[in-house]
Amino acid sequence: MQSRCYILGLTLLGACNLGEDMSNTPVSHDDDELFIEEDGDHEAHHPHAARTWKIAIVDDDEDVHRATEFALLDVRILNRRLEFIHTYSKAQTRECFAKESDIAVILLDVVMETEQAGLELVGYIRDELKWRDSRIILRTGQPGYAPEEDAIRDYDINDYKTKNELTRKKLLTALTAAIRSYDQIRTIDASRRGLHQIIVSSASFSVEDGIQRFASGVITQIAALCGVPPEGLLCAQGDLPDELGHTSRFSVIASAGHFSKLMNCPIEDIANVHVRDSLRHALTYRESSFHQHDMTLYFSGHGNRPVAAFIELPYALSEIDQQLLGVFCSNLGVCLDNLGLVNQLKNHAYRDQLLMLPNRLKFIEQIVLALEQPAAKKMVVLIDIDDFAEINDVLGHHYGDLLLRAVANRMKQELGESIFLARISGDVFGLLGPEVSLQPEILRLLFAKPFLIADTGHAVSMSMGIVALDGYTSSGADALKDASIALKRAKGHHRGSYILFTREMGIEIRERALLMQQLHKAFDADRLFLAYQPQIDLSTRRLIGFEALLRWRTDEGILVSPSDFIPLAEHSGLIISLGAWVLRTACHTMVKLQEAGLAPERMGVNVSVIQFRQADFIATVEAALKDSGLAPHCLELEITESVTMASADVFEDSLAQFKKMGVQIAIDDFGTGFSSLSYLDKLPVDRLKIDIAFVRQIDTPEGPRIAELITQLGKKLGLKLIAEGIETEHHWQVLQEMGCHEGQGFLIAKPMMEADLLDWIKDWSAR
Ligand code: C2E
Ligand code: MG
Ligand code: MG
Repeated sequence: MQSRCYILGLTLLGACNLGEDMSNTPVSHDDDELFIEEDGDHEAHHPHAARTWKIAIVDDDEDVHRATEFALLDVRILNRRLEFIHTYSKAQTRECFAKESDIAVILLDVVMETEQAGLELVGYIRDELKWRDSRIILRTGQPGYAPEEDAIRDYDINDYKTKNELTRKKLLTALTAAIRSYDQIRTIDASRRGLHQIIVSSASFSVEDGIQRFASGVITQIAALCGVPPEGLLCAQGDLPDELGHTSRFSVIASAGHFSKLMNCPIEDIANVHVRDSLRHALTYRESSFHQHDMTLYFSGHGNRPVAAFIELPYALSEIDQQLLGVFCSNLGVCLDNLGLVNQLKNHAYRDQLLMLPNRLKFIEQIVLALEQPAAKKMVVLIDIDDFAEINDVLGHHYGDLLLRAVANRMKQELGESIFLARISGDVFGLLGPEVSLQPEILRLLFAKPFLIADTGHAVSMSMGIVALDGYTSSGADALKDASIALKRAKGHHRGSYILFTREMGIEIRERALLMQQLHKAFDADRLFLAYQPQIDLSTRRLIGFEALLRWRTDEGILVSPSDFIPLAEHSGLIISLGAWVLRTACHTMVKLQEAGLAPERMGVNVSVIQFRQADFIATVEAALKDSGLAPHCLELEITESVTMASADVFEDSLAQFKKMGVQIAIDDFGTGFSSLSYLDKLPVDRLKIDIAFVRQIDTPEGPRIAELITQLGKKLGLKLIAEGIETEHHWQVLQEMGCHEGQGFLIAKPMMEADLLDWIKDWSAR
C-alpha cells in the first residue's frame, strides 16, 4: 500500500489574511512542506519527489568529513537520500547556516578553533537561528570535552558520541533515529500550526459579512491550507438569505483561478462533468470526497443548507490532511451560520417586516446614494394615508394592515423599477426616484381608484411631502426630515394636499428648534421673569388688578415676545412647568403686595389650553394658592376665547370647579374667537377682555363699533368688561362712555418689574 504524508503548507497561512483577496497572491511551496516517502514510486510524479534529508557535517578535521560521507554513501533513510553540507569552523558554519534551512541533522564537532566552538554553535543554532527542529549529534575526539548535562537538555542535543565510538553501524543508527525524530517534530508542529490557523481563520471568517466575500475567502483559505494556488469553486444553495431575500437553486457563489468564469453559474451548467458530479454528490449526500487531483469539501451552511467547495490539488491528500480539513469545514459551517444570522439581522434592520419593503434606514441609505449622483435629478416623496388612525380604530388593525399592503402593492406595480419604495413608519411610505416620475399629479392618480380589501373597495386619500434632491446640500437623513416637515404642513392644510419643501421652511423650522432649546435652557437658568401691568376702574381710576405677563430675556439681552415663545413652550410641553411657575410667582407677588397693604383686588394670570387640559391643573392652581397663602377670589385666570370654544367640554367642568373655589375667570382676546353666544351664556366666566385690536379700531374709520357690540353683549350676559391696549385719552373716554368698566394699557402703565410695583401704586393713588 502506498501512503504519502503531505504536511500542509502552513507558514503561508500566517500571511493569509482572510478577507484579503488572495487570488493574486502566489502560493509558494513553503519550506515547511515535507514529504516522507515510504514508497518511492511516485517521486517522478511530483516536484518535491527528489527531496533529501540535509545533513550538516561540522568538523575541523577533513578526514572526519570524508569518513562520514563514505560511511553514509547511498544510504536512504525513510525513503530519502542524504545531502551533505560541509563546514570546518564555527565562523564558517555560522556563515553557511545563515543561508541554509531545513537541515535535519547536524553532526557537530565540539572542539574546533576553540575548545567551546561546537557548544557555542549549538547556542547559535537554537537561540539565534531558532532552529528548534534540527537534530544535533555532538561528536568529540576526547571524552573530556563532553558538555554538561543541562546543556544537553537545554539545547536539545540528541546524542553525544566520541568519534571512535561512531562505527558505520552506530552512526547509521544514530542518524536514522535523529531523522525520524526530526520528521515527527515537524509533523506535530505543522499540525499544531495548522489547527491554530484554522481557529484563527475561522474566527476572522465570522466577522466577514458578505456571503460572497466569505465564499471566496473559503477557497483561498483551503488552498492555502493545502499549500496550493487557489483554483476552485464554491457552490451553495441560492436561497441562503441574501440582502434582498432572493432565492434560487444551487449555483456557484465564489470561484478562483481558471474557474473564475463560472461565477454565478447554476450547478447544472458547469461543463466539466467531474466537477459538476463531485459538487452534486457532496451537496446531495452531504459528504466530502477526496480524489487524486482534487477534493470536494462539504460543510453545512446557514440553516443546514449545504455548501460545497471543489478544489484542485496536484496530489491526493493524506488522511491527516483530510482530518484537518474536516475540522476546518465544521468551523466553516459555524461561520456560515453566523453569517446567516448577520444577514437576518441586516434584513430586520433594513426591512419592514409587515410589508417586506425596505425600511426607513434603507431609504436613507438610498437617498445618500442618490445625493452622490446629483445629475440624476431625483426627488423624495413621503406619502401619508389620510385618516389612517381612524381606519385602524374603526375597522381594526388587521384591516389597516390589509389596506397598507394593498397600497404598497399598487405602488410597487404601477411605479416600476426606477422608483425606490420604502415604508418609513406606520402609514407613511417613502418614494425616491426621478422627478418626472414622481410628480404629485402622477402619484395622485395611483390613488384615484379605490383599493380592494376583502372584496370591498376602499377609497383612500393621501397627503404628500416632497423634497427635490437637485441642488440639495444636506445629508440623506436631513432630506427625510425635510420631507417630513413638508408632509406635516401638507396634512395641516387639508386632506389630499401636497407641499414641496423649501429652504425657507427649513430655516424657519431649524430656528424654531433652536429657540425651543434656548427657552428650555432659559427656564432652567431662571432667565424668565414676570412683568405686571395694572388694570384700573375707568370711571374712578382706582387700581383694581394686575396682569402677570411672562418675559424672556435671552443670554444676548434680547427680549423675546411671549407671543413668539409661548407657542413654542406649548409645543414642547414646557408650558406645563412654566405655567405652574408663573402661577406660583404671580400669587407670591400678590401676597407681598397685600402684606405691604397696597394690593389691588386681583392678580390676572394667563393660562394656556395645554395647561387646562392637564388632569392635575386644578391641583396646580390650588397648590399655588396654598403655597402663597393667596385667597382664591384674588386670582383671575385668563383664557383665550378661541381656546375656550375649541375644547368646550374640557372647560365646562373645570370652570365650574374654579367657580366653586372662588377663582375668577376672564375670557382673553374676546372678539377674535368664534364664541357661540348660547355657549358663552353657559360658561361660568366673570369678565370679557376686549381685544387690543378693537381698541385700536377706535382710531380708524371702523370706529368703536365692535368694542361697543362686545360691551353690550357682556352687559346682557351680566359680565364685567375690561379693555386692553388703552394707549390714548381718547380710547379711555370712548370705552368709558360705551360702558366698559375697566381697562389696561400703556396710557396707564406698561408692564413693569415686581420691584417697581410698590412705588408705582403709591404714585398712582397719589395722582
Ligand atoms: P394678552 O394676555 O392679551 O396680554 C396683553 C398683551 O398686550 C401683553 O403683551 C401686553 O404687554 C400688551 N399690551 C398691554 N397694553 C398695551 C398697549 O397699550 N399697547 C400695546 N401695543 N400693547 C399692550 P405681551 O406681554 O407681549 O403678551 C402677549 C401675549 O402672550 C399675551 O396676550 C398672552 O396671551 C401671552 N402671555 C403672556 N404671558 C403669559 C403667560 O404667563 N402664560 C400664557 N399662557 N400666556 C402668556
Ligand atoms: Mg392676558
Ligand atoms: Mg389679550
